[in-house]
Amino acid sequence: MLRGVEARCDRAARREADPVGFVHQYQSLADQEIVALLASCFAFGNVKALRAKIADVLRRLGPSPAESLEDAARTKRALRGFKHRLYDERHVAALLLGARRLQRRDGSLGAALVGAFAGANGELVPALVEWVGAMRRLGGLDRLSGNGAAHILPNPEGGGANKRLMLLLRWMVRPADGVDLGLWPLPPSALVVPLDVHLHKLGRNLGLVTRKAPGWKSALELTRSLAAIDPADPTRFDFPLCHLGMVQDCPSCRDPVRCEGCGVRPICRHWAEN
Ligand code: SF4
Repeated sequence: MLRGVEARCDRAARREADPVGFVHQYQSLADQEIVALLASCFAFGNVKALRAKIADVLRRLGPSPAESLEDAARTKRALRGFKHRLYDERHVAALLLGARRLQRRDGSLGAALVGAFAGANGELVPALVEWVGAMRRLGGLDRLSGNGAAHILPNPEGGGANKRLMLLLRWMVRPADGVDLGLWPLPPSALVVPLDVHLHKLGRNLGLVTRKAPGWKSALELTRSLAAIDPADPTRFDFPLCHLGMVQDCPSCRDPVRCEGCGVRPICRHWAEN
């Protein structure tokens, strides 16, 4: 059933309405990494609004964001006055300068993560703690005040689902399929689904998650359920599921009007029960 949902997903059309669409507009690995990090860190709330803000940052940085970030003073001037929800110009500048400095230190963000992954014996969370910590230190995020400094690139051990980090990893690690780019040489089997409240609700409706809170343990549980279908690449189903169309409006009950046309209705527990 999930393979059918995957087969019916119009990836090209959906990609353009998704933050990952920005990453496909750049050619060099350095630019793609910077843009993917930016887009994933902004990936919460209204998608139209967040895409407009990502576009604003990219316009300010010019045709090659990675090149622009070579000049910290110029970057800070370019971002002057920028504001998006919890983030202000200081948070965005520190995030991106930290990323660029890590690229220069290790060759690429992907190489830095691969090194951290090896150093953590293939354990994802400790590797991310090391990788995120390096970026935060190099960019000075740790020295900034305000909730935006913690939220823009949070500690992966915080207990939350790490949705935005998992989204970034899915984009950069999963094999290229028109949406994900397959740029970082890590095993897709190590990835965890980018869980948010909508995907959590859908996972519960499909009997793939039993936990009630949409945190890290639920993300692991959903990933394990999907790994039963494809152990080598469990997060392959994330994009098609999140673009089902009614995910945001799912009533989580048997509602003939609102469930009309739902692609997973045949396996939804609300329709299986009498
Ligand atoms: S059939 Fe209805 S309740 Fe079930 S997942 Fe689809 S929209 Fe949600």
